[in-house]
Amino acid sequence: MTDQTVETMAQNDRPTWPALAKGFRCKCPNCGKGRLLHSYLKVNDTCSECGQELFHHRADDGPAYLTILIVGHLLAPALHVSYVHFRPDPLTMALMFSVGCVALSLFLLPRLKGAVIGFQWARRMHGFGDSK
Ligand SMILES: [Zn+2]
Repeated sequence: MTDQTVETMAQNDRPTWPALAKGFRCKCPNCGKGRLLHSYLKVNDTCSECGQELFHHRADDGPAYLTILIVGHLLAPALHVSYVHFRPDPLTMALMFSVGCVALSLFLLPRLKGAVIGFQWARRMHGFGDSK
């Protein structure tokens, strides 16, 4: 099987955007019903609804990188705008942005991990191509 054939198969039966969206909701990229994660960031070995093997994922540092990228690009301009237009007390501003940064990071990290796993599943990476 050529690379082109595998790529075409992946695009036909595993569309990328729906898998990313299901992963972002922390649901199985295959069925969209089973839970992808348990505790905070641990990935379930298989989907409880459809049996899709999920242990093939290799998310590694990808979700953390994406979280830092997004949080930084949202809060850095907000920091600038708030300083230039409102000039809040430095302690208030530091507290506001620290809490906002931590809260947004904790919110995004599991969702981006799900999205990365959904992407890997859709593109048949790291053993996802061999599983059902
Ligand atoms: Zn499933």
